Amino acid sequence: MTISNLQVFDIKRFSTHDGRGIRTTVFLKGCPLRCKWCQNPEGLFPNRQVLYMENKCIHCLSCVHACQNQGVLFQDGKILLDRKASEDWETIVDACPTTALQFDSVSYSISELMHEIKKDESFFRYGGGVTISGGEPFLQPEGLLSLLTACKEEGIHTAIETSLYVNRKWLEKALPYLDQIYADCKIYDASMHQECTGVDNVIILENLRYLLTCAKKDQVIVRTPLIPGMTATKENIEQIASFLSSIYSQVHYEILNYNPLAKSKYAYLDMEYCFKKNPKLYSDDQMKLFYQIAGDAGIYNLIVES
Ligand code: SF4
Repeated sequence: MTISNLQVFDIKRFSTHDGRGIRTTVFLKGCPLRCKWCQNPEGLFPNRQVLYMENKCIHCLSCVHACQNQGVLFQDGKILLDRKASEDWETIVDACPTTALQFDSVSYSISELMHEIKKDESFFRYGGGVTISGGEPFLQPEGLLSLLTACKEEGIHTAIETSLYVNRKWLEKALPYLDQIYADCKIYDASMHQECTGVDNVIILENLRYLLTCAKKDQVIVRTPLIPGMTATKENIEQIASFLSSIYSQVHYEILNYNPLAKSKYAYLDMEYCFKKNPKLYSDDQMKLFYQIAGDAGIYNLIVES
């Protein structure tokens, strides 16, 4: 197997989400989807990018002086970045005394990443494990497989979060090394899916069918994040639930409440968030209605957020 480096934009420790026990979650960079509501916009692009955190900036202008080709400008009292400019970004980031400028990710070899992961091995002995998230982890398929193989060689429980917009070949190769699979099913209607995520959902639905008929179908949890006006409609939840239950009546399905926390990340990347006014979490009563719709459409094993 080819051993590749992995571009990682975060390692979160002590997580109690996305897998059993206490998890170490590794976030791999790059995603083929462009969901309008993406919760991890820093994970969208496969290459390393520079982040600018205005709240840490003391306007010392060291970055402006370190740049050669106008990649950093000071205009109207603001630092402006042109990330496409040909610059020595290492030098510019190093010049910043306050870490207002930072790279969004780090390249790890598999052994370096395993070294980081194994710092948490005491949790792995008591039921925890590693969750690979993103971005879309399968966008770095060789490195992902190497990482999963290394985890299993150490006896570590593994989980993955995937959009399922992935080549079946890599999904099949990864499956023997996965103990839990969190698979997204965001929007059933093809044109709405294309409009809201930038890609067609045919591959995703075919991969869902494959997962829910394979030997590991009971280790699959299908998820829909509730996004106002996009995924969070009666029709969408009904269509997804009917589709899933028609493939496997005991499918595990989870409806995730809207998460308003992503909005602040967009400013660091000079990107625009899909909602100008950030919607609120759905109330318990509203969530119960979504659960009811899924139940009526044939879902028995509904995972309810606590
Ligand atoms: S070097 Fe850092 S603190 Fe100084 S102006 Fe640039 S971003 Fe701000």
